[in-house]
Amino acid sequence: MTKMLVLGGTAEAVEFAGGLAGARGFDVVYSLAGRTRMPTLPDCALRRGGFGGVEGLVSYMRDNDIDALVDATHPFAAQMAAHACDAAALAGIPLFKFLRPAWDEPADASWFHAATSSDAAGIINGRFGRVFLSSGLGDIAAFAHLPNVWFLVRSIDPSNGPSVLAQHHHITSRGPFDLAAETALLRDWQIEVLVSKNSGGDATRAKLDAALALGIPVVMIDRPPVLPGTVYTSVSSIMDAVKIILR
Ligand code: NAP
Repeated sequence: MTKMLVLGGTAEAVEFAGGLAGARGFDVVYSLAGRTRMPTLPDCALRRGGFGGVEGLVSYMRDNDIDALVDATHPFAAQMAAHACDAAALAGIPLFKFLRPAWDEPADASWFHAATSSDAAGIINGRFGRVFLSSGLGDIAAFAHLPNVWFLVRSIDPSNGPSVLAQHHHITSRGPFDLAAETALLRDWQIEVLVSKNSGGDATRAKLDAALALGIPVVMIDRPPVLPGTVYTSVSSIMDAVKIILR
């Protein structure tokens, strides 16, 4: 048996871990940071919570006889990605990296590019009054110094997060989202600008299509840099690579 640790938190990680766990010769442990209250889970062994940095991850992998590591975390989980890289090297085991492709800016779209949430807040300040903030609750404090801006905030989990914002309405829902519903949301709430991370993937791209159709600009928070090394961009390609290289 080849024992795999899959760092998850994405739909593709769930699909990959569940698929590999069903394949002969693989024993899979799926790892979550534990931020989401009711995460989607694969049918395999699970663990939750941080490892305690690089050293903690190395110890976990040694203690649990992990043969190979898969980083299938979200494109913005930069710290975990860096820890995975360092820990796999220290433990002397292979690392497989999955990264879903980023969204490209359509030729007729109007995107402002931001490197961080703070940059995004700077772009909004003085330009827009009604904002759809779909970039998650993690960095929401970056928008707290905009008391004259009204925010529609969407997140998977209910949370006190948006309460740092002076004016907001909070909705909780989980993708996939469709174009008709996203268009209605932007129109009904009279949204002037959409703030999004460049997460990529089909589940949440309808908001971009809706914004484009309505002529609403987008503040796109660009991805953190990707570490050197091979990156697999589809579940089937990383599944094939793992089976070919580790069998
Ligand atoms: P991060 O900033 O890169 O990681 C912070 C710390 O959280 C890591 O150092 C690690 O703690 C722990 N951690 C992260 N992912 C983990 C995992 N899969 N299993 C165990 N521990 C994990 O990560 P993040 O951006 O907060 O994301 C946390 C989780 O949410 C990830 O699983 C990610 O895939 C998912 N997610 C993130 C976003 C986003 O926009 N960032 C969006 C959707 C889903 P230790 O140092 O203690 O090991």
